[in-house]
Amino acid sequence: MERTPYLLPFTRDRIPTWLCPVCQSGHLRLLKDTLVERESQASQKDHDHVDWEPDWIRGVFSCVFECNNERCKEYVSCAGDSRVETTEFLDDEYGWSQQQEENFYPGYFVPALVLMDIPKVCPETVRKHLRESFALAYADAGAALNCARAAVEAVLTNLNITRFRNQNGKRRIISLHQRIEGLPNKYDEQKQLLLAVKWLGNAGSHSGPEPTVNDLRNAYDLLESVLAEIYDKKTEKLKAVAKKVNKKKGTSK
Ligand SMILES: [Zn+2]
Repeated sequence: MERTPYLLPFTRDRIPTWLCPVCQSGHLRLLKDTLVERESQASQKDHDHVDWEPDWIRGVFSCVFECNNERCKEYVSCAGDSRVETTEFLDDEYGWSQQQEENFYPGYFVPALVLMDIPKVCPETVRKHLRESFALAYADAGAALNCARAAVEAVLTNLNITRFRNQNGKRRIISLHQRIEGLPNKYDEQKQLLLAVKWLGNAGSHSGPEPTVNDLRNAYDLLESVLAEIYDKKTEKLKAVAKKVNKKKGTSK
């Protein structure tokens, strides 16, 4: 899916093309009368500063969106922070001009926006971790990456890659890296992508540089491709087998 709109802030009059998380076909529109915002105390104090400019303004907001699909019309609540920002644009008459605009940066959506195409036959155990990841995506990229890593563990379990081994009579956990390496050869291409998601997920749980929204975007790109390859292709192959069997009305020889 096209993820760029999900990385953009919104303004009162411009909402990026965000899909409704419930029907997955309508787009969200802002119910303007629900938008409540307050300038933070620190930002209010800054007004006394001699160098103060409007783009110092910071605040918090909450609002409700409505799905524009007539058959759905579901509501989605949102909360986050706001900033007045200056953008430069080219004006035909005056050349380069500046415009100040208030941008709203979501921290949470309820229900969470769906940030990845998930195959219909994707197991619920995998889907559950992805939903958790989407819920945290705007507030905490590291925690969201951690959930994406948990989704990889669930994919491996679904593909019957064992999680434990016996060592001297004790049950030991097999590392995610080793489990990925343990995938059959037919998944060779997916192994590399899954290892990359693992590294990004590790960055989300260890000390070190804070993972960014871009790291999360990369993880979703990789996982989306892997899930499509594993689950959509599998369905396609099974459909082909079913077609063959049905045609022959029995076992294929
Ligand atoms: Zn909808």
